[in-house]
Amino acid sequence: MTRFSDLGLSEPLLRAVESEGYETPTPVQLQSIPPLLAGKDVLGIAQTGTGKTAAFALPVLQAMTKERPQHKRRIRALVLSPTRELAAQIDERFGAYSTHLDVRHRVIFGGVKQGPQVRALQKGLDVLIATPGRLLDLIGQGYIDISHVEFFVLDEADRMLDMGFIRDIEKVLKLLPNKRQNLLFSATMPTTIASLASSFLRNAVTVDISPKEITVDRIEQHIMFTRKADKRRILVNIIENESVACGIVFTRTKHGANRLVKQLLQAGIESAAIHGNKSQGARTKALAGFKQGNIPILVATDIASRGIDVEGITHVFNYDLPNEPESYVHRIGRTARAGRSGVAYGFCDDSESGYLVGIQQLIGNEIPVIEDHQYHFENARPKPGQKPGKIKDPNAKKSSNSRRRSNNGRQGGRGQGGGGQSSQRRQSNGRNRGRASGGQGGRGSSGQRSGGQQGGSSQGRRNNRR
Ligand code: AMP
Repeated sequence: MTRFSDLGLSEPLLRAVESEGYETPTPVQLQSIPPLLAGKDVLGIAQTGTGKTAAFALPVLQAMTKERPQHKRRIRALVLSPTRELAAQIDERFGAYSTHLDVRHRVIFGGVKQGPQVRALQKGLDVLIATPGRLLDLIGQGYIDISHVEFFVLDEADRMLDMGFIRDIEKVLKLLPNKRQNLLFSATMPTTIASLASSFLRNAVTVDISPKEITVDRIEQHIMFTRKADKRRILVNIIENESVACGIVFTRTKHGANRLVKQLLQAGIESAAIHGNKSQGARTKALAGFKQGNIPILVATDIASRGIDVEGITHVFNYDLPNEPESYVHRIGRTARAGRSGVAYGFCDDSESGYLVGIQQLIGNEIPVIEDHQYHFENARPKPGQKPGKIKDPNAKKSSNSRRRSNNGRQGGRGQGGGGQSSQRRQSNGRNRGRASGGQGGRGSSGQRSGGQQGGSSQGRRNNRR
């Protein structure tokens, strides 16, 4: 077994890692740290939750302390991150890993006043973590000079492109010196990222931590087929019956997140939304309330959730199934952190069955279905041979009964991701039965429960009616 001390890290960094409680390096750390310490570029296919921040932060910090130039501090490492949350989290990690080092780091992002950021820049920094917009803004105002950067990290490159930052990245690249070490991390590797990577990485070592490896066994996954309009009722039932005290709900849109917060409040459940339209202050407040346990439910869109790293999340709800299969893996990875276990529920309506097919293809498994609940909607189940992607059946509602009959007749085998009826029934009648209804209470060893059981609640009983 390889230990951190086998990777060539300096003693102050090893001490910091130890006080963080890390016992062994994660795969991305094992594969990235040695080539980065040897001065190589790295192309990392990995996402949040794999330990990728330490994979780049530790070698960057080591480089910062090895050959410190005599003159005053100047920015020698630049980390670009797509969202404020992720940037703040990376900065927090730099703080933890550099406890025993004389390295100054700072995060800058938009949506807040620039004054304090400018003052920190004027005092001198070694490591700057930034979102692209504010970085270019402050470079334009003459407060930031990145011409001495020795280490450039582009984190979550696929999100950067999704969010339209490609021009900004190109501008930043033009301002960096030619001689530097580069690191690019991305959860996925579409051709756009591959060509971006080849435009600035040199002889890079590729480190591929594929999503399959991080769909950890500790996450108990379930799918529930339902009508769109019933999703919130299912959600409320599960939150109440399973006494969810720390759960995150993913919606597709910002508007959907806001609406759901209001609907949950009507049901007496407190929650907060976190998405790109919220001010930085509101996002920070929501996240802080959630982290401290004052708000039990966080409702988030994918982009805002990047980098949310809160320990003890017991439940992840895919209220809307994501249209990118990788996002599913990323979302459910919010739970089961740091050796804990967790539960992930996905609500699939009839417009999302194609997404489910794609997700199941990616993870290489069929997700067990819970159908023993009041809002089960058979027509949302993928059809045999259905292809991945959004395939909305315009006749879905009209012909649901006839289709169900014909599916029952012909599904001996299993369509792509669809799952034969009989095996699905077996799954839901076995270990999953009553889970969503609260009828069985206990979760066994794999679930983290934070509150008391409400197994016999009226919600549960109502939910059990079919
Ligand atoms: P990241 O993928 O960088 O966002 O890291 C995800 C979480 O894993 C963070 O909470 C880290 O503190 C934690 N972590 C990183 N490396 C290790 C490790 N080697 N052992 C245990 N936890 C780790």
